[in-house]
Amino acid sequence: MEIIDGKELAKAIRENLKEEIIELKKKNIFPKLAVIMVGDDKASAVYVRNKSKACNELGVEYEEFLLNETTTMDELLSLIDKLNNDKNVDGILLQSPIPRHLDINEAFRRIDPKKDVDGFNPVNVGKLSLNQDCFVSCTPYGIIKMLERYNIPVEGAHAVIIGRSNIVGKPLLQCLLNQNATVTICHSKTRNLEEVTKQADILIAAIGKPEFVTENMVKEGATVIDVGINRMEDGKIVGDVKFNEVSEKASYITPVPGGVGPMTVAMLMSNVVKAASSRE
Ligand code: NDP
Repeated sequence: MEIIDGKELAKAIRENLKEEIIELKKKNIFPKLAVIMVGDDKASAVYVRNKSKACNELGVEYEEFLLNETTTMDELLSLIDKLNNDKNVDGILLQSPIPRHLDINEAFRRIDPKKDVDGFNPVNVGKLSLNQDCFVSCTPYGIIKMLERYNIPVEGAHAVIIGRSNIVGKPLLQCLLNQNATVTICHSKTRNLEEVTKQADILIAAIGKPEFVTENMVKEGATVIDVGINRMEDGKIVGDVKFNEVSEKASYITPVPGGVGPMTVAMLMSNVVKAASSRE
């Protein structure tokens, strides 16, 4: 069994991006990410901090817009418009969740697809499903990079994803399909889940339930990717996979922390650099 070291791989990706950023700066392009946060969700604050740290490390300009809980849709949309029109801003990221009275889909639709570094605008979602060049949402993109780096065959493999969210499960389904995997996607209404997951050559857990995937759900020799980030009462972070027992059976497995999480941030940086490289 080999542990897929997302932390190390993310570091290598950031090192390569540093070189690209130096080249961009020589052409007077200073990549910039704008992050919008509405309200004060604690988990979001941690994610946003990680993104700002990565920007600082790479020399990407970073600006944060903290809107209060009572912000109106008009105010949010006019901020997005302002950032869409700002030639110095390459990437716009709206951190979810946002308060319930706001329509997150409308906000994602408003972000210029060319600055949509999270890949949530329907234009990018559509292009991904058509297998066209686009911004791919960062977590699935990071998973694909991990599989590539560890030479894990995707073409012809049976990939089973547990979870069908718009930010992980669905775009990952498209990414794997584009790479010629046979993909099954499971969710809370799936019958006989264990029978399905046991068929997976590549099993991806994106559920949000601590240690949900147990040894009996995994085929001998499978690759297991754990997307889950579950904060326990004692402050410990646990994935969606019961690492100790599943790692006995898997041929490759990602740890939590140190697996998918750092890759997500690295791929965000990669998308910002891609956006900056195609400035008009
Ligand atoms: P969502 O809550 O949006 O989706 C969870 C999915 O799991 C849903 O499709 C749901 O099914 C499914 N599900 C829930 N219970 C079961 C069950 N008993 N059996 C089968 N399927 C089930 O979560 P996200 O996709 O946003 O996130 C998933 C996890 O990944 C979370 O822990 C999150 O923190 C983490 N995450 C980590 C990232 C990283 O960078 N490492 C990035 C994004 C998320 P249904 O649709 O039927 O309700």
